[in-house]
Amino acid sequence: MSEKTPEIGGTAQVALVGAGPIGVELAVALKRAGVDYQHFEAGQLGHTLTWWPRDTIFFSSPERIMIAGVPLHTAGQRHPTGEEYLAYLRAVVQQFDLQIHFYQPVRRIERLESGFCLITERHGRLLAYRAEKVVLAVGGMHFPNWLGIPGEDLPHVSHYYRDPHDYFRQEVLVVGGRNSAVEAALRCWRAGAKVTLSYRGPAIEREQVKPALLADLDTVVREGNLRLLTGTVPVEIKPGEVELACTGPDGQPAGGRRMRVKADFVLLMTGYSMDTTLFEQLGVNLTGEERAPQYNPETMETNVPGVFVAGVAAGGRQRKFRHFIETSHVHIPRIFTALTGQPYTGPLVEPGAKTSETA
Ligand SMILES: Cc1cc2nc3c(=O)[nH]c(=O)nc-3n(C[C@H](O)[C@H](O)[C@H](O)COP(=O)(O)OP(=O)(O)OC[C@H]3O[C@@H](n4cnc5c(N)ncnc54)[C@H](O)[C@@H]3O)c2cc1C
Repeated sequence: MSEKTPEIGGTAQVALVGAGPIGVELAVALKRAGVDYQHFEAGQLGHTLTWWPRDTIFFSSPERIMIAGVPLHTAGQRHPTGEEYLAYLRAVVQQFDLQIHFYQPVRRIERLESGFCLITERHGRLLAYRAEKVVLAVGGMHFPNWLGIPGEDLPHVSHYYRDPHDYFRQEVLVVGGRNSAVEAALRCWRAGAKVTLSYRGPAIEREQVKPALLADLDTVVREGNLRLLTGTVPVEIKPGEVELACTGPDGQPAGGRRMRVKADFVLLMTGYSMDTTLFEQLGVNLTGEERAPQYNPETMETNVPGVFVAGVAAGGRQRKFRHFIETSHVHIPRIFTALTGQPYTGPLVEPGAKTSETA
């Protein structure tokens, strides 16, 4: 069946895709300078943060993740929760009266002889916008990393978790060995779950996990409150139990040794991957194992003239997190100057020599 003909949506000098923190920060800079732009967001403002577990606290301190020079205050001067940060983003959007096309995903981008055509969707209608330049601030967490094992799609299995309360007095298997897995395991245990943490490596990779979480995990495991099974990987999930295989040095099942653990719920905290579709449609080179877009670090312009990348999308499918909010503020002046030819005079959070406990 052929696709419907899109209706005309509008034209702009710049099309900005994605309204996470970095997309919003760039939007403020464009609006302040009077640049004619259209801003599209597939979901609601800060969509990626909306599926964080309830009450998750940022590792970054407030001044490192504030945007557009708007102070971020919290009670007790502690690090904000995801919910507080979403409230902050709403305030920034209101403060600068930013116009964002929410719930209007960009489905396709075509290169024209001059400029680009973005096909977006709203209420099932296709709307086409023309723009001279495109900025992709689409983030890097579109899909969970599926393990590809039997039972992964069962209803008690999830790649996301919202609330540790759900697991009170339940047996929970958490799979993974980084911050989100360790934090999920600790929070579920504190919420009254019986938790097993399975990680495929021979030990939790200490440089991949925040020091505070590591110290907490060490204590809780040492005191026998949480079972840590390193060198294991799930190979089959059934209602009520999971079969784990012992792994070799490469983290893959080896030697045929198996064990069964009881699990009312299984949380697969195995990371997320970026949807590279828009980059591919535009002909942006995706390089290396992480398929990071090729770009000029001085301007953030990709190998396709007129197409820019901002925020964590610059990192592709990050295995080791180097791009996050803290380290992405610097993209704003680079892109702003490349788009407008003007020096950037707005506020800027410089990434410190040592960021606050690298995310
Ligand atoms: C549990 C957790 C804790 C974290 N803690 C920290 C921390 O302490 N400090 C820190 O700096 N970072 C932290 N991060 C990372 C942080 O969430 C990201 O760095 C941040 O969200 C990146 O901002 P962004 O604007 O680049 O991308 P995102 O916030 O991912 O925004 C991208 C937006 O683009 C939209 N989008 C995607 N595709 C399309 C499309 N085709 N059309 C329209 N819109 C589209 C998405 O819906 C999304 O809203 C944490 C992440 C997690 C999961």
